Formats: sequence, structure tokens, C-alpha cells
Amino acid sequence: MKSTRIGLVAAAAVLALTASACGSDDGGEGSGGDGIKIGIKFDQPGLGLKKGSDYAGMDVDVAKYVAKQLGHEEDDIQWVQAPSAQRENLLSTGQVDMIVATYSITDERKQKVGFAGPYFVAGQDLLVRADDSSITGPDSLDGKKLCSVTGSTSAQKVKDEVAGVNLREFGTYSECVTALVSGGVDALTTDDTILAGYAAQDQYKGKLKVVGQPFSQENYGIGLKKGDTATCQKVTDAITKMITDGDWQKIVDANLGPAGYKPPAGNPPTPDACS
Ligand code: GLU
Repeated sequence: MKSTRIGLVAAAAVLALTASACGSDDGGEGSGGDGIKIGIKFDQPGLGLKKGSDYAGMDVDVAKYVAKQLGHEEDDIQWVQAPSAQRENLLSTGQVDMIVATYSITDERKQKVGFAGPYFVAGQDLLVRADDSSITGPDSLDGKKLCSVTGSTSAQKVKDEVAGVNLREFGTYSECVTALVSGGVDALTTDDTILAGYAAQDQYKGKLKVVGQPFSQENYGIGLKKGDTATCQKVTDAITKMITDGDWQKIVDANLGPAGYKPPAGNPPTPDACS
């Protein structure tokens, strides 16, 4: 295909979003201006949300901060949707360079990918309809229809710990929210950060509530290719700097504050050593 020079100039901004599809983007280090592909969620308000061509949320801001420390300006970032079940695969096949997507550090995932962090600590909770007082925690789910997402620690935990759970698994949490509002399911379980973001959305105000009894500890890490200790070290240094220079607090307040979410004990965390 032949492009005119004018066409190329006009399309430059658009191309930045699709460049990797042409295989021209190696995400190289140290020379600033190289592209970097970062996996985020596209449907989690307050964390990773795509609105038109804009991306917003705590994970987006953390990703921008870390990318900058690695020498990448905002324009060099290509945002890639990273649904829960696809994160390990996206990293190990090189479709993304890093993932900042409410991604809990677990031993099982560490078999396949690397992590820098944690940069945030959340807890698993339940989202229910505002007029439902029958669900007060994981012990009161008997006979209830529960929703969560394939490949998440949230789905795994209730399968492991709630005997006889009636669990429906979707690909994204926003699909669970739709089912919850329409009565197709009775509760959605995942991290309280994510649930607070949905409950605070204008269209759900007064319709949904977070139960508020967290029953796990979710340590959010930045997913990296397994074995890349050099990048892990750089990302860890960036997270530490973000926390000590006050940007962590600003990012948390700006993105989780509007939903009334208060970071639980353990925040800000101290990142683990890279191994
Ligand atoms: N933090 C949990 C996880 O990594 C749940 C949220 C998510 O699926 O992104 O599985």
C-alpha cells in the first residue's frame, strides 16, 4: 500500500496507537522515543478505563510514571487491553512489554511471568444491589448467584473456599456489573478497588453497594517478561521513587478518591526485591 506524505503526517497520532501491529516497535531501552506496549484494563473506572482515545485511572497513571522513568514519553506508550485471563500470555509472547492492570502477584503466576512491586494493596470484596441486605460476606452466598472473571484470583478464591458456590465467569468485570444490575446474578466478587469504581459510576449510583468486608490481600504488581531482572530492577526503582516523592499519594487520591475508596493498611507497600 502506498501512503502520501500528507496522509502520513495526518495519521501520525493514530499510527502511534497501532504501530506495533506493523512490527516496527521493539520497545528498546535507553534511547527515549522508543515505543512501549503496556497492558491495562479498559473497563475498570478509577483503575484502567478507555474513554474514546483517552485512558484514565490509577494503573494508567502508575504506568505513565514508570514508563517515564524508563525513558518513554507518554506519546511513546501504546495501550493494549489486557483482560485478566490473557495477562500471562500477552507477556510471555511479547505482545506487551509490561502489564499494569490490577494484577495480583501470586506464586502461580510467577511461574510464567515476572513482577515488580507491589505498588498497591487491595482486598477482595463483594458488590451487591443496594437494596440487598442478605449478602454480608462470603459466608452468606449459599443459594446466591455469584459472578467473577476467568483467570482472576477472585474467581479462584471463591472456587477454593466457598463450598458449593454458584459461580458464573465472564471475561470482564463490566459484564458482571450488567448482570448484577439486571438481576441475572446476585453478587460480583473481585478487588474492592474495582468494585468501588463501579459503585461510584453515575449510572449505578444508589443501585449498587460494596459489602465492605475484605477477605483477601491482593498485592498489585507490574507484570514483566519472566527472567528480565534488569527491567524488573528499573521498574522497582521507579515504584520506590513514585512512593517517596509523593506522586503515589497524588495518583491514589486523584483516581480512587472520587469513589470514596480509602487505601487499606499496608499502603503504600514496600516493593519486593527482584529475583
Ligand atoms: N487482582 C485480582 C487478579 O489479579 C483480581 C482483579 C483482576 O482480575 O484484574 O486476578
